[in-house]
Amino acid sequence: MWRDYIRQVKPYTPGEQPKDENVIKLNTNENPYPPCVGVRDAIKDFDYNMLRKYPDPAVNELRQAIADYHDVDIRNVFVGVGSDDVLAMCYMTFFNSNKPILFPDITYSFYDVWAEEFDVLYVTKPLDENFRIVPSDYKTINGGIIIPNPNAPTGIEEGIDTIIDIIENNKDSIVIIDEAYVDFGAESVLPLVAKYDNLIVVRTFSKSRSLAGSRIGYAIASKEIIKALHNVKYSYNSYTMDSLTIKIGVEAIKDDKYFKENLEKVISTREWTYNKLLELGFEVFESKANFLFAKPNFISAKELFHELKKKNIFVRYFDKPRINEYLRISIGTDQEMKELIDAITLLK
Ligand code: PMP
Repeated sequence: MWRDYIRQVKPYTPGEQPKDENVIKLNTNENPYPPCVGVRDAIKDFDYNMLRKYPDPAVNELRQAIADYHDVDIRNVFVGVGSDDVLAMCYMTFFNSNKPILFPDITYSFYDVWAEEFDVLYVTKPLDENFRIVPSDYKTINGGIIIPNPNAPTGIEEGIDTIIDIIENNKDSIVIIDEAYVDFGAESVLPLVAKYDNLIVVRTFSKSRSLAGSRIGYAIASKEIIKALHNVKYSYNSYTMDSLTIKIGVEAIKDDKYFKENLEKVISTREWTYNKLLELGFEVFESKANFLFAKPNFISAKELFHELKKKNIFVRYFDKPRINEYLRISIGTDQEMKELIDAITLLK
């Protein structure tokens, strides 16, 4: 009998995490460079006796550091265990109407998984033939909107005017802008949080701060929204972020110099790789993220994915309608990208 009552969900499939150290891993948009030295020192100096005690459920130290960084009040900041946790909390807190939430058909593949998990109705809005958002699609009755900018897995940035147009036309809904990749060259809508009390901007330390393993994400929004998120979080699991991670996060956000240098390196490697892929005959989208979305013209994307894997180079392939001829390639070090380009050149 109990089997009849299992919650039926098709889980999100994350990118592979191979054990082999020799793999060139360009499949999960991790940062190829280490976190800042402050993070290393925070781990070294961490008093393990702290682990006896529960961590601060309000995560005030880290929330204050994030608030200072963005020049907002601590009451405008919510943190979670990766932005996945923040987004899941947003679904749980705000997507409770009987109207469908809206998001693009090609986007982060966790959005529909949460909708299924939390029984939220949803409608996907097709991107146009150039994989761009059509703002008029979002001028319809809805129970909320979630859009990543830049989008994943395309890396394409929508201009701020498009995002403002969507927010302006949806003042009765929660609008979430998932800015997981914004640091790599796109414009943020964070300043608009002061103007729109229905806007939630979600960010992560996983990509631009090289901390995918620590699981730190956050949301910036009106105080009313943050309070509602906290009420749900405290009723679900109050001690989600451990004491060491809190220290790591504080150090990571302090070192702005290292952060900016790291971003510049990734962006310049991205531009180099973009040009090389074009030279090799790929169709490539201009990206404002730490990955490129590219379609080969001499081999199918699926075959190329397998051929590269044989050479220990892991990229991401999505066997889904509209995008099954593309590969998503995370930006690694210059050396890793050179090896990727050499491997592809040999296959031609
Ligand atoms: N949003 C988007 C668009 C992503 O691609 C990812 C990474 N998988 C996330 C959110 C979640 O990242 P994290 O939980 O590591 O913060």
